[in-house]
Amino acid sequence: MALTALDIFKNLPKTNCKDCGFPTCLAFAMQLAAKRVELVKCPHMTDAGKAALESASAPPVKLITIGDGERKVAVGNETVLFRHEETFHHETGIAVQVSDSLSEAELTEKVKSINGKFYERVGFTIGVSLVALKHDSGDAAAFAAAAGNAQNMSQLPLVLMTDDPGAMKAAAEKIKNKKPLLYGITAENIDAMAGVAAEMKLPVVVSGTVETLADLTQKTRKLGAGDLVLAPVSDGMTGTLQDLTRLRRAQLKKNFRDVGFPLLVNAADTTDPYLEIARSSCFIAKYASILVISGHEDWQLLPLLTVRQNIYTDPQKPIQVKPGVWEVGKPGPGSPVLVTTNFSLTYYTVEGEVTASRVPSYILVMDTEGTSVLTAWAAEKFTVEMIASKLKESGGIGDKVKHRKVVIPGLVAVMTAKLKEESGWDVLVGPREATGIPKFLKSMA
Ligand code: SF4
Repeated sequence: MALTALDIFKNLPKTNCKDCGFPTCLAFAMQLAAKRVELVKCPHMTDAGKAALESASAPPVKLITIGDGERKVAVGNETVLFRHEETFHHETGIAVQVSDSLSEAELTEKVKSINGKFYERVGFTIGVSLVALKHDSGDAAAFAAAAGNAQNMSQLPLVLMTDDPGAMKAAAEKIKNKKPLLYGITAENIDAMAGVAAEMKLPVVVSGTVETLADLTQKTRKLGAGDLVLAPVSDGMTGTLQDLTRLRRAQLKKNFRDVGFPLLVNAADTTDPYLEIARSSCFIAKYASILVISGHEDWQLLPLLTVRQNIYTDPQKPIQVKPGVWEVGKPGPGSPVLVTTNFSLTYYTVEGEVTASRVPSYILVMDTEGTSVLTAWAAEKFTVEMIASKLKESGGIGDKVKHRKVVIPGLVAVMTAKLKEESGWDVLVGPREATGIPKFLKSMA
């Protein structure tokens, strides 16, 4: 359970010296309980007091890092059950599974294919996070060789999947400097497998039913491995979602440190590739920090990565593009000028349709604080005055084209006459839906 202000107050020096910047120790305790200040602001804490209050300032879900370099994956540190309460902080690491029983050529081809699974969406690059190597061969030497080959071919961190401590040790030894995730520990192999993780100082997955996980993590930490990820062993999809929710509630509402680690779901299902992606989407929403899947085709990955992108954007900060004049193709002095808002989804929808039209054009992007056309118009962030001012701006779009015609979204046709009067430009009303843009632009040519 999170400490209350009174719990914290009991452990403070109670001198009201004000050195922390607050008038009393109680005022400081209240701020600490609300996580608005850090304990170090009080310079008079005793060691015993600090130890007692550690849980007040430590995150309820430990931050775990897998891999190194640019592609390292950080998971955990989550603070809310629902993204609208704040935001989810570290996006789900999506791991695509490969088998060590593939031939060297097949493994090379598959890992290279996974390496390339990156896509541009609304101005951001989204892609696969990890490669999960599964020990199917039963041969420790083959598993170790496959781990070395896969890591040599990929910048992505590896998840090593085996419950055989000997095979895990052989594989981890080969790539330990790349900090793979060891998956993992079970009730049956805990002594030997935790020993491998502790010896190599690597993060490790602990698998068990929700009821046994706390005991397993306690034992694992006593054996020297502290960077843990939990994989609840559950009954079916409903059971998995229930267990993930129970664990997240225990982490955040009860501050139950024995389960205060990121969660992993192995959703790999080679029998039904459609269901695998549908289920995985649910696990991203609640509350998988790492997701292992077998699907690696674009049609499987792109929808899943899109779900992840949508869940893990900050709901209080709409994704935006930079306001200004954007070029599509190689426009010239006679090219059309379209005006829209800087909400990424709106801009890239318009940009995609302009590209599809093959008519080189300028897009005048207004700063509407990341809101869409109708929302911005209703909130007076996309007004006649603002657009007219941009059209008339020195060094702006007026200097790039010889004509004086601007296309406005069909949804704000109501501003046509006034915008013409304010700007001196001819105002053409574009389609209400972006899908009508190609036909509209061709008709202008
Ligand atoms: S610095 Fe420490 S002892 Fe002084 S008022 Fe603040 S909390 Fe109390």
